[in-house]
Amino acid sequence: MENCLFCKIVSRDIPADIIHEDDQVIAFRDVNPQAPVHVLIVPHRHISTVNDLTDKDQSLTGHMILTAGQIALQSGIDDSGYRLIMNCNQEGGQTVFHIHLHLLGGRQLTHLG
Ligand code: 5GP
Ligand code: ZN
Repeated sequence: MENCLFCKIVSRDIPADIIHEDDQVIAFRDVNPQAPVHVLIVPHRHISTVNDLTDKDQSLTGHMILTAGQIALQSGIDDSGYRLIMNCNQEGGQTVFHIHLHLLGGRQLTHLG
C-alpha cells in the first residue's frame, strides 16, 4: 500500500527498532513510547482497520496476540502485567491506518478512559 507508514517499515523503506519478525508479522518499538515497554505488532499485509478483518484473518489476529505474549515474556513483564490495545478509527484513537497491536507494560497502567 503506497504512502502507508507501517507498510514502509515492513518493506524497510523507513527504519524502525525491530525486535521480532516472522512470516506474518513484524514487531518494533513505538517511536513515542507511553510505557517502558511499548511495542507494536503489525501484520505484513496491509489491513486498514479492525473493521476490515474477516473470518480468514482469525489465525493472523491470534498470531498477533500470541506474539505479543512472547515479547512480554522476553521483556520480563509477563508476571507483572501488561496491556494489549487495538485502536479503531477516530474515536478509538487510531492514527496509523494499518492495523497494529500495542503491547504496553513496565509500569503501573491507569484505567482506560
Ligand atoms: P494508533 O494511534 O494508530 O493506535 O498508534 C500508532 C502508533 O504508531 C503511535 O503510538 C505512534 O507513536 C506510533 N508511530 C507513529 N509513527 C511511527 C514511526 O514512524 N515509527 C514508529 N516506530 N512508531 C510510530
Ligand atoms: Zn500498510
